[in-house]
Amino acid sequence: MRSILLDRPAPRRRDPGRTLLAVSAERTNWAGNLTYGATRIHAPSSVEELQDLVARTRRIRALGSRHSFSDVADTTGELVSVAGLPPRIEVDAAARTVTVAAGLRYGDLAEALHRQGWALHNLGSLPHISVAGAVATATHGSGDGNGNLATAVAGLQLVRADGELVTLRRGEPDFAGAVVSLGALGVVAAVTLDVVPAFDVRQVVYDDLALDTVAERFDEIFAAAYSVSVFTDWAGTTRSWVKHRVDDGDDWTPDPAWMGARLADGPRNPVPGMPAVNCTEQLGVPGPWYDRLPHFRLGFTPSSGEELQSEFLVPREHAVEAFGAVAKLADRITPVLQISELRTVAADDLWLSSSYGRGVVGLHFTWKKDSDGVRPVLAEIERALTPYDARPHWGKLFTVAPEQVRERYPRLADFRRLRGEYDPDGRFGNAFLDRFVG
Ligand SMILES: Cc1cc2nc3c(=O)[nH]c(=O)nc-3n(C[C@H](O)[C@H](O)[C@H](O)COP(=O)(O)OP(=O)(O)OC[C@H]3O[C@@H](n4cnc5c(N)ncnc54)[C@H](O)[C@@H]3O)c2cc1C
Repeated sequence: MRSILLDRPAPRRRDPGRTLLAVSAERTNWAGNLTYGATRIHAPSSVEELQDLVARTRRIRALGSRHSFSDVADTTGELVSVAGLPPRIEVDAAARTVTVAAGLRYGDLAEALHRQGWALHNLGSLPHISVAGAVATATHGSGDGNGNLATAVAGLQLVRADGELVTLRRGEPDFAGAVVSLGALGVVAAVTLDVVPAFDVRQVVYDDLALDTVAERFDEIFAAAYSVSVFTDWAGTTRSWVKHRVDDGDDWTPDPAWMGARLADGPRNPVPGMPAVNCTEQLGVPGPWYDRLPHFRLGFTPSSGEELQSEFLVPREHAVEAFGAVAKLADRITPVLQISELRTVAADDLWLSSSYGRGVVGLHFTWKKDSDGVRPVLAEIERALTPYDARPHWGKLFTVAPEQVRERYPRLADFRRLRGEYDPDGRFGNAFLDRFVG
């Protein structure tokens, strides 16, 4: 853990681009497992201030809502948060897009969109994560037909290393390289996202889906609904969240013995033993997309950082073998685990996306906050997954050797070229990019 010194806020009229955040909690990431190495954290209140700041700062990186567990956002230079930019939410109904300020959180966006009759195609598990930060690391929800959240990006407004504000649109050369950027190409000021007409979802939970059944009927399980998540502690407790779009079949009734599991008789929390009061409504009650696709309600911050997370995105053709390889480590995993979640993500064409070129299954681990206990178990899981070409989630914890990570991204050389064009002097560089991008 490094400690940093944050300057006092500078008077805005004398030095407008140097508005600094000075809240002590901002020095660490959400989980508290990382203290940023930055000397300053800036929070400009206009795009012009942001441009000016970027142009005159030798080494700077964008910081989102600080939810990454890895050091992807870290720097020994300066950090800039775009959360203070004016909160734009502009729907273009004809184009079916919404343009939003990059620092906006999904929760704020979702409710505003829904009020206007629109929806996003999917959401991650937490509504407090910023749009730009989620997009930059290919954050995803679940669903065989659902690409990750970055696949909804139709355009970006980005402040490049020279301070120029550039607009990139889907279909332009290199756009697919610029979306999942790990913050390497510049500071995103606004994001344009595809929207779809608002829809309702009904979710039900099943208790006691057998781990053997998960392995035997993997594809059937994940094809059963718009979004399916299977939670397990690898020791026998397995619960499945099955989320149906109401327009997929209004007459849908849950099978009480789906896949040999039991329909839950009351609301459940994904973590066994935890109360379900903060979970989104279950038991098949229809409700808006933003209040069913995440497992937790908008107004709730689960477990306030008392956890660590890792996730490996495995190509679908290896899903069952990879699942079996991890299941063999149950005795090692369960003691340091809170819960694991299995999700699926559709293939995309975004160069640094963990689902680039292939549909994947996400094998996710919410660990107890015990770094020393978790580290060796994580290394064992990574060894077990080596034959399956698993890509670690950029924003979560992993110890895979950098050269192995690089090999798993076929467009990495193209991304390096793009980085050279956008940021020739490495203004946005950090140790994470040095290791995994080069
Ligand atoms: C409780 C919890 C639940 C989670 N659930 C999920 C989940 O369901 N699915 C999933 O896939 N992941 C999940 N994650 C991981 C999380 O979505 C990613 O780590 C995400 O990148 C965090 O976004 P952030 O806004 O906090 O960005 P940060 O962690 O602050 O930064 C992440 C990256 O984004 C870049 N960045 C941020 N803002 C900008 C900008 N304006 N311009 C350019 N680059 C920028 C940073 O430089 C950095 O490289 C979860 C994390 C937590 C803590």
